Amino acid sequence: MKKDCIFCKITKGESPAEFIYKNDDFIVFRDIKPSAPIHLLIVPIFSDHHIDSINHLKEEDEKMIGKLFLLANCIAREQGLDKSGYKLLFNVGRGGGQIIDHLHLHLLGGFK
Ligand code: AMP
Ligand code: ZN
Repeated sequence: MKKDCIFCKITKGESPAEFIYKNDDFIVFRDIKPSAPIHLLIVPIFSDHHIDSINHLKEEDEKMIGKLFLLANCIAREQGLDKSGYKLLFNVGRGGGQIIDHLHLHLLGGFK
């Protein structure tokens, strides 16, 4: 949990979001400004060890990152995107277009 982090607030239920899925480690909700017909954010829940971006990953985060991709696979299937295809995207740092400094994976699909 990082003070004033909007995604931490969403994971704690202190800020609203259109939830798709939640478990002990991750939440998935709709992007407020979608760039695709289906645009979801897959967001790890951090209690003490906050990871700002892919740039901040450490060896100990290997398991969490593996779970993140497996969850993306699962959510894509649930959303009916596994056959049509989809994009997975990490923005990293300001030069990479990142605006929220809380690690998250974009899942985009439903393109015509
Ligand atoms: P990034 O550029 O990778 O940091 O992406 C952050 C994303 O979060 C953007 O696509 C925003 O539209 C989205 N976003 C920001 N605030 C919220 C919010 N409160 N609820 C849902 N999505 C949000
Ligand atoms: Zn955070």
